[in-house]
Amino acid sequence: MQVKTTHRPPRRRSDVNWHELGACRDADPEMFFPESRASRVEELLAVRVCMGCPVMGACQEWALSAEERYGIWGGLTEKDRESILNRRAAAARCETKPVRRRRRPGRAA
Ligand code: SF4
Repeated sequence: MQVKTTHRPPRRRSDVNWHELGACRDADPEMFFPESRASRVEELLAVRVCMGCPVMGACQEWALSAEERYGIWGGLTEKDRESILNRRAAAARCETKPVRRRRRPGRAA
């Protein structure tokens, strides 16, 4: 079951009101929350709106940091965001792993 929300992030005191500048502010929310994954046309139309949006970067980062599960945000589909978050998690794991240096044979430590 897909949970629908308005296409507005929750307000926080620290939020800059970037969403009020979004190109989607007067768009049909249905376009940004297609009923099924089969609604590829609606998805592409929403992404197209995002491509001309002056706050796309802020919107993307908000959706990624909030781990928004549904809808199109910042031109990213649910799958796009999942993929980015997985890559970021993998990169973070690599950064936290200690680098092991191999000893070269025949050299003293
Ligand atoms: S990037 Fe897309 S979803 Fe985000 S505010 Fe702009 S038009 Fe709306």
